[in-house]
Amino acid sequence: MTNKEYADLLLPNVEHDWTYYEEKYPKRDLKEGQMVTRFAPSPTGFVHMGSLYASFLDLQVAKQTNGVCMLRIEDTDGKRTVENGVQGIIDDFKNLNINFTEGMGFGGNYGPYLQSDRKDIYQAYAKKLIEEDKAYPCFATEEYLNEIREYQAQKKIRIGIYKKYAKDRDLSRDEVLEKIKNGEKYVIRLKSPGDFDNKVVLHDLIKGDIEMPENDIDEVIIKSDGLPTYHFAHAIDDHLMHTTHVIRGDEWVSSYPKHEQFFKVLGFEMPKYAHIAPISKREGNIVRKLSKRKDEDAAISYYVKKGIPTEVIRLYLATICNYDFEEWYTANPAKSIDDFTFEFNKCPIGVTVFDIEKLMSISKIYFSRLKNTTLFDMLDKYTKEYDVDFNNIINKDKEYTLNILNIERDIERPRKDIGALEEVKSSIWYMYPELFDANTEEYAEVKACDKQIVIDYLNNVYDVNDDQETWFNKVKEFAVNNNYCADKKVYKEDPDKYNGMVSDFCALLRIIICKKNQSPNIYYLIKYLGKDELLKRVELFYK
Ligand code: GLU
Repeated sequence: MTNKEYADLLLPNVEHDWTYYEEKYPKRDLKEGQMVTRFAPSPTGFVHMGSLYASFLDLQVAKQTNGVCMLRIEDTDGKRTVENGVQGIIDDFKNLNINFTEGMGFGGNYGPYLQSDRKDIYQAYAKKLIEEDKAYPCFATEEYLNEIREYQAQKKIRIGIYKKYAKDRDLSRDEVLEKIKNGEKYVIRLKSPGDFDNKVVLHDLIKGDIEMPENDIDEVIIKSDGLPTYHFAHAIDDHLMHTTHVIRGDEWVSSYPKHEQFFKVLGFEMPKYAHIAPISKREGNIVRKLSKRKDEDAAISYYVKKGIPTEVIRLYLATICNYDFEEWYTANPAKSIDDFTFEFNKCPIGVTVFDIEKLMSISKIYFSRLKNTTLFDMLDKYTKEYDVDFNNIINKDKEYTLNILNIERDIERPRKDIGALEEVKSSIWYMYPELFDANTEEYAEVKACDKQIVIDYLNNVYDVNDDQETWFNKVKEFAVNNNYCADKKVYKEDPDKYNGMVSDFCALLRIIICKKNQSPNIYYLIKYLGKDELLKRVELFYK
């Protein structure tokens, strides 16, 4: 029996030879420095903050070199796959308007991008290794493997199938044929050429050089269901897809010696590696990995519902991804994330603690920099879905709403009072008579003067066409004429003599208008609400 016949027998029904795939997926035509990256999630649930973080770096470094970023879905572990998991990931990214250059749901010439559709490819390369006597069938049963594991654990020695524990390495072909005839199940394992006493060095782009012992474990490459293990699939896929940079969670660092061995044994060129620290959560004194199940703020749907745009999440991720991004963004308010060059050596090496307050403060800055028209469009879309009544209100007079949204916006230091679209209503409700009338909030405490004074002001002094300076000068003059004091020192000498300071008159106007003692400059509120509405509110206040 030739080696080829032997490989055919162990892995029958493989359509193509490995050379077919080498030709099918030729080298990419890349220019110097162009990166090919891939985000490779397993379909275990929705896209969350942790996965977005990894994909963010994948996408940015590819984009900034005009390279390629693929979405590859790794579903070879059927037990972990959840229902609709594959489509769910694609939909989540598309809904977030995050687009990959290639991959599941995005097309491309290096697919299929779903590992379960690549079975033939993995087996073709496994056959190559069998033919070269670099891989072998292992018939070890679950019981035998458990027994070995327990023995090794008890003796405190390395766990795994290596050296004398790799007993099926020495089976003769006849013995193998006999076992197959008896219907015994088998996996294919690599004959590891490694020596545990030797060292390999991972030149990690984020963590620096990490020295580890060489792998001498006979890793499974093809499982009994015919699918590959993660380790084997990683080498084959990233070779055939011509990945230049493998960016992945640092839980894979310890597997690197296996991966390096696969690339070498298969004669593949190594990609570069960047292992990122996971996003974690602080719980009291404990820092733990962000959990899809426990942490509601890990889910992207949490932000979508609040009306926090993807761009804000990207800004937050950019902030944790490279330590100097935030400073750059503050200094370059007109630029976008894509104008920044991300570098691996500026990524955090250790754990990154997720900070929702930081995310919200970034969100406030983001919203403060929007044009009123952009904010209106976002608000319109959001309220159509989450608050139809408010949507009708803001659309009744769009120009009016645009004016309201523009209050203290288009200036050097814009207001930062909105962190999410869901907060807009609670920030501007009092600018809409119907919302004001329906509001049951108490008025904040304030020193009130005679009602007639306020009415006089509105009837005789207020002019909707005044500019801010004229408006203020008139208010001041009117207040002073009505026994308000303009000088703090003078006022303090005998406060009972006055209705209050001029600022108290303005505070009164503010409370009459919005019930609260904080608001944007009341000049704008007064200007947009108009005299009739203001007179109505005076009546309500003094009722
Ligand atoms: N499917 C692996 C995971 O979800 C991907 C690791 C990698 O990017 O290589 O952890």
